[in-house]
Amino acid sequence: VAKRLRDSQPQFFRAEQERELEERLMMERELRFAIENDELCLHLQPQVNGQHDVIGAEALLRWQHPQRGLVSPGHFIALAEETGLILPLGEWVLKEGCRLLGKWHQDAQLQHLKLSLNVSARQFQQPDFTDQVLSIIEQYDAPPARLTLELTESLLLIDPEGTINKMQQLQRMGVSFALDDFGTGYSSLSYLKLLPLDTLKIDIAFVRDLTLNRQARPIAGTIITLAESLGLGVIAEGVETEDQRLVLANLGCHVYQGFLFGRPTPVDVFTNTLTRPLTRFLD
Ligand code: C2E
Ligand code: MG
Ligand code: MG
Ligand code: MG
Repeated sequence: VAKRLRDSQPQFFRAEQERELEERLMMERELRFAIENDELCLHLQPQVNGQHDVIGAEALLRWQHPQRGLVSPGHFIALAEETGLILPLGEWVLKEGCRLLGKWHQDAQLQHLKLSLNVSARQFQQPDFTDQVLSIIEQYDAPPARLTLELTESLLLIDPEGTINKMQQLQRMGVSFALDDFGTGYSSLSYLKLLPLDTLKIDIAFVRDLTLNRQARPIAGTIITLAESLGLGVIAEGVETEDQRLVLANLGCHVYQGFLFGRPTPVDVFTNTLTRPLTRFLD
């Protein structure tokens, strides 16, 4: 039996690996096609202040796959990054986001909203990234002051100087920057001070733990104090319960995003909720 196991295992692994490789190749082909075939869409999740007013939204990419249904970015962003498909994909997100901002600008009930777009490190590192953003902003008549780009700490590991330069160029045009998933990466505090950031986003992991273990509170508290002392705003991600919101408020964080206030929803659903009268998410 042992011998049979020994002999069969490598073969089993080979078959398994082949299956995985094939799956990846198929996904890659389909993802390439998804962009051309208009299968991508943005869902919007509200960002609210201490009075529960919606002050903006984060755009989260979704793939409406003809067979698989609605696919979340967790299933394809990594592949897109590895294959370079993140570049056309990211460009699509910038265009669609700026198109929305341009449209909202014409609507008195929506023009105050900010829109946050996620930008992957590989996309941001393209030499023409700033030109690309600026020309898209122009193309769609989007007010740059309503646009926030969410970056991650990984950018700082690779090219801190280039990152700072690009951010400064865009910031001069009015674009804002948020550091996403803050606390999970490796950013050195000295770089953090140099970055022209506007907001730190407290990672969902710290928020989740807030009401579960005692260490989470001082961690969240430290991030909030850090943001304050750097003159930055702070948003808590993944707020699901009123208890979590209350702890965050007591620690000094007054802008939230999470299922408590709204899940990511199709654009029309999001804007209809806001333009209909009596639109409080909570009472
Ligand atoms: P992220 O930017 O940190 O986005 C927050 C994620 O947390 C979203 O997952 C959102 O649906 C989820 N979330 C929000 N509130 C809650 C909550 O209360 N509870 C829980 N459990 N989850 C919550 P999603 O949409 O699956 O996106 C995952 C990640 O994929 C994003 O994390 C971001 O890193 C990436 N991503 C999404 N859209 C894009 C995009 O357009 N471009 C790039 N490069 N990455 C994107
Ligand atoms: Mg984000
Ligand atoms: Mg995040
Ligand atoms: Mg995340």
